[in-house]
Amino acid sequence: MTQQIDSILIVDDSAVQRQHSVALCRELGLGCIYEAANGVEALETLAHLPFPPRVLVIDLEMPGMDGVELIQLLAQRNLHVPLIVASSRESALISSVETMVRALGMQVLAALQKPLNLPQLAAALQRYGGPAATAAGPRRKEAEFGVAQLQAALEQDQIVAHYQPKVDVRTGVIKGVEALARWPLADGSMIPPDRFIPVAEQHGLIHALTMKIAGQACGQIARWNKHGLRLSVAINLSPVLLDSPDFVGEAAELLEHHALGSDQVVWEITESSLVANLGAALGILARLRLKGFGLSIDDYGTGFSSMQQLVRIPFTELKIDRSFVHGAADRHHLRVILQSALDMANRLSLVTVAEGVETIEDWRLLQDFGCTLGQGYLIAKAMSGDELPIWLRRHTQHLRALREGRMPSKP
Ligand code: C2E
Ligand code: CA
Ligand code: CA
Repeated sequence: MTQQIDSILIVDDSAVQRQHSVALCRELGLGCIYEAANGVEALETLAHLPFPPRVLVIDLEMPGMDGVELIQLLAQRNLHVPLIVASSRESALISSVETMVRALGMQVLAALQKPLNLPQLAAALQRYGGPAATAAGPRRKEAEFGVAQLQAALEQDQIVAHYQPKVDVRTGVIKGVEALARWPLADGSMIPPDRFIPVAEQHGLIHALTMKIAGQACGQIARWNKHGLRLSVAINLSPVLLDSPDFVGEAAELLEHHALGSDQVVWEITESSLVANLGAALGILARLRLKGFGLSIDDYGTGFSSMQQLVRIPFTELKIDRSFVHGAADRHHLRVILQSALDMANRLSLVTVAEGVETIEDWRLLQDFGCTLGQGYLIAKAMSGDELPIWLRRHTQHLRALREGRMPSKP
């Protein structure tokens, strides 16, 4: 993975720390390692390089322009290079900067305590090119498309639903799937949803896209029902649709058409979308609930609403954002947030789902904290409906290990 990253810029005022980071990067086989001793030098280096480096490592505490100011300037100048934030300060401070970077629309590969170490840096660089990298990351081979192409792709059913398993954290048994939109291209590459969903939202195509994904997902769930595999499906609901009066009726028709139980469909709504839209959203959400659908608060923890505000909305499920899940076992404040969110949700009788379960340590922590369902790369990535039964056969052999909190061995 690190072969994709041929260049990196390390910004740190301490020569010792800089040399240490350079040595780690060399060990990881990076070819072009640039250094800057402060923000001004970093901006000058960036201005003079023919291509921006693939990744920037930014120290927060620097005399003159500090790391936060530098990041803000990069965002203002649209220099969206993936970042690794590094600091010797407390983890709460580092995390708040991480949140700020995301809010600026930039990608954070990791927020690390200094001195950096090799496994952490390697893991951070590994994330380059992962799913989150696609929103802002500078990919060499970026497929460009216009609204007309997206519309045509929708009409020709080229946008397809893939399914990521959601499993019981006590037993590992599959309980449901999340439908995730995919746009595969003829050359085998894929335009990620983070790129085409916003386009669909801005150009009046999101209603059609949502109904396509929902239609495919409900059809798939119905076929699995017939084979004795009863799963629920979670479908992402764009905030734009929280303003669309026809949507509830169409969703209900879909259930009827495929003869599904309404408890088999959960709509995921991001926490942040409610803040902007509460008035309009409440009517739609209440009606979906009246029809028996499940309602999930997606990406919980990334917005600013309190649980108190959220319980006024008839949610049935709380889905904790992956930034509070992966790595929480060894980051104290993440663990505290995760545990208190789970405690509160359990007391409110909400189903709890943790996304971003990538390691066995993440998994064990969720078992300790009594989370209901887990979803993430440790279990499986999203896959086509045809692939799921094949995966499921293999997964069944891993249940015992998962139940006991052990890493399943590869077949
Ligand atoms: P999301 O709703 O937060 O979906 C979860 C994303 O996390 C998916 O990315 C999934 O592939 C990824 N993921 C799953 N497990 C892990 C893990 O262990 N580690 C990490 N780092 N990532 C993991 P994907 O498929 O690229 O989707 C990105 C976003 O696009 C989704 O985020 C969702 O907001 C949006 N999206 C996808 N499909 C649809 C859709 O049909 N409608 C709407 N409105 N939005 C969609
Ligand atoms: Ca989701
Ligand atoms: Ca999410």
